[in-house]
Amino acid sequence: MRTLAHIGRKVGVARYGGNRQWAVIVYDGVPYTLGHCILSSMCICSTCYESLPGGSACDKHKATKHPNEEVSFDLEFNWVLLQPSLRHVEMNMVMELGWDLSCKTLAFTMNFRSDTALNCAQKSD
Ligand SMILES: [Zn+2]
Repeated sequence: MRTLAHIGRKVGVARYGGNRQWAVIVYDGVPYTLGHCILSSMCICSTCYESLPGGSACDKHKATKHPNEEVSFDLEFNWVLLQPSLRHVEMNMVMELGWDLSCKTLAFTMNFRSDTALNCAQKSD
């Protein structure tokens, strides 16, 4: 989350005092998945601009910090256009095409021994 806010400040997004309304951020693999979770959950208070993890944290924030005020919450990172990089696509292709040739042996040496464990390793990013 700090990384996204840092990027927002560096590229001059309006939320952080700049002029840009949005920015494209490219991720690979697991960070792409985590990025999606962060983008859809992190909120920001419209009154005090405190960053919150969303859900009940927003309700608790309103009750404790602004009990008698009208407060709204926006998605904090609604300015991010998240894109998977080509490397993410290529890694998935390699995992599917080269699984039997190389990755299966690697997974086996990393103690992914049962069929279930090998299937899990094959499906991971
Ligand atoms: Zn607030």
